[in-house]
Amino acid sequence: MSPKIKIATTSLAGCFGCHMSFLDIDERITALAEVVEFDRSPLTDIEHCGPCDIGLIEGGVCNSENVHVLREFRKNCKVLVAVGACAINGGLPALRNFVSVEACLLEAYRDGIGVDNPQIPSDPELPLLLDKVHPIHEIVKVDYFMPGCPPSADVFWTFLSALIEGREPSLPYELVHYD
Ligand code: SF4
Repeated sequence: MSPKIKIATTSLAGCFGCHMSFLDIDERITALAEVVEFDRSPLTDIEHCGPCDIGLIEGGVCNSENVHVLREFRKNCKVLVAVGACAINGGLPALRNFVSVEACLLEAYRDGIGVDNPQIPSDPELPLLLDKVHPIHEIVKVDYFMPGCPPSADVFWTFLSALIEGREPSLPYELVHYD
């Protein structure tokens, strides 16, 4: 029996919606489990990504920890995939790129509606915010882009099936139009 394909996944500045959509492959996950083993992912308790065949990245890059995790994935994954709009172009979190980090923090933690006990978090353990939210290809080389917000379960299935079988992924029009 050939060794299983190792896949790692993570969410950077994302909402986990892409991961939820991945799980929507439903019973097909049984077939996937026959050929795939998960390294770091929300399904496992693995803290650091080890050597993998495929890395799936949800979310853009908004802080120093995101940069660290992304570089670790790039170093360890033979193929790196930007999953969803946030990883591909920053997505919704990148809306903050139109204002300063200071203005964002003040709105979120001091001046915004419903803020109770206003104070800007300053624990030294917190990752430093970057001045912009970046798509992941601005930080590391990305091999493939899986479009959608989120990509549908069928997109995940089609895309991953191709990669696992050693074929070039190709998405039919029915899976990538959003009208
Ligand atoms: S692409 Fe959409 S679903 Fe995926 S992390 Fe971003 S906002 Fe969430």
